[in-house]
Amino acid sequence: MISSYLPVTIIAATAKFLPHRQVMPAYVILIYLAAAMLFALSLKWLSSPKTARWGVLAGEIGMAAAIIATLFLPEVRHYDWIFIAFAIAIAAALPMALLIPMTAVPQQIALFHAFGALAAALVGTAEYYAHGASLGTSTLVAIGFESLLGYLTFTGSLVAAGKLQEILPTQPMNYPFQNVASISVLGASIIAGAMVVVIPANPLVFPIFIALCLLFGVMLILPIGGGDMPTVIALLNSYAGLSASAMGFVLNNKLLIIGGALEGSSGFILAMIMCKAMNRSFINVLFGQVQAGKAAKSDDIYGGNIKSVNAEEVAAILDGARRVAIVPGYGLAVAQAQHAVGQLFELLESRSVDVQFGIHPVAGRMPGHMNVLLAEANIPYDHLMEMDRINPEFENMDVVIVNGANDVVNPDARDNPNSPIAGMPILNVDKAGTVIVIKRSLSSGFAGIPNPLFAAKNCLMYFADGKKAVLDIIAELEKL
Ligand code: NDP
Repeated sequence: MISSYLPVTIIAATAKFLPHRQVMPAYVILIYLAAAMLFALSLKWLSSPKTARWGVLAGEIGMAAAIIATLFLPEVRHYDWIFIAFAIAIAAALPMALLIPMTAVPQQIALFHAFGALAAALVGTAEYYAHGASLGTSTLVAIGFESLLGYLTFTGSLVAAGKLQEILPTQPMNYPFQNVASISVLGASIIAGAMVVVIPANPLVFPIFIALCLLFGVMLILPIGGGDMPTVIALLNSYAGLSASAMGFVLNNKLLIIGGALEGSSGFILAMIMCKAMNRSFINVLFGQVQAGKAAKSDDIYGGNIKSVNAEEVAAILDGARRVAIVPGYGLAVAQAQHAVGQLFELLESRSVDVQFGIHPVAGRMPGHMNVLLAEANIPYDHLMEMDRINPEFENMDVVIVNGANDVVNPDARDNPNSPIAGMPILNVDKAGTVIVIKRSLSSGFAGIPNPLFAAKNCLMYFADGKKAVLDIIAELEKL
């Protein structure tokens, strides 16, 4: 969402750089008020799959109204620059929106955070260089806050995007005295920021401040492993929002203050909820100390214990089942198997089988990823069960079909305190009568560790693409 503040930022910034500010017209204030209300409603509606579409629409209408109202501020005159910026933004955004696959949306969001935060930080930097020592202490403090959060979010989000795209290693990258080094760089950044406020005319302090903030962003995210990226993304979202809010104080734009604060607080709350859901310490996530422990070797776990099945055998098992759970994961998104899974759901229901979907909060690569996919396939919402609701049900399930999920069903997280994902709540699919895991190989998931579920006595592996496997099972089941 932060990137959508960009137009308001750019227009408000061009207005601020003009020498004479004018009183904001009443109609702009009213539109800003309506936009702020729409943002709040948008967040409320986005919290449930049933109302999420309304949430998106409310956010879009609010943002469009805010952009248009800002264009009508009397001091806005540099329309040429504004429209050049719009043209560049549209040229960059359209291919991103149309061509990037659903599975790459998390890294796309990380990039949006990076550029939104960079925009906020650059506006603060431009203000500093345009007005320098003549700015009051409170504005300089706001610029310091905006730049610190903006620049660290910029580099931090680029590293997060690199890890999600697997250009950078997804494993935590640790080094000796990491905590001391991180806290020292953060401390040095804060001291440099304070010096910007105390001696703003000194030409050296601001560049040093920027360099330290950029460095801290990299140091903050590098040690965090893939399994904790969802929390990191929510946290970076929050930092970017707070930076935009500080920018609102610098530019005296109340909508930026409100929008940034809404984003900052909602991102922060989401990060805390996710820490709770993954049994992580929030402080450890803040300081990049998240994953510990050592994974067991694949050969020790899998050697001689893997049983594989084909579509015909799976259909025979399903033929005798009365209660079935389907657990989707990242592989379902890669295979684009949601519609095939929707067909299997309908076929099983038509045969009087009770079918539920088990949704883990961090299955896939973004919060709500599985809900979005299953909504695309028109799976009724009342068949989507959150982790806490479905976990007690697994022991009563005849069959669980795991399609493209791995880390979120790894019993090591529950049973092995030395596992790198120890303490992360999982879907307890291993408690069911029979577990059928559909994936292409024994490769690991995002956390990069083996999964003892695949070697469990009640687990059968169906090695195939998630979509083809389901279509083949349907074909076999229809013969019975
Ligand atoms: P995982 O990443 O653990 O595993 C996905 C599995 O899908 C792989 O083991 C892969 O195995 C399989 N797969 C890939 N392509 C296909 C295909 N075409 N057909 C069938 N299977 C396929 O997924 P989970 O959903 O279980 O867990 C999500 C992980 O991502 C967690 O570690 C989570 O912390 C992390 N994460 C989550 C985010 C979020 O917000 N949801 C954001 C960032 C990270 P194979 O190659 O053998 O087919």
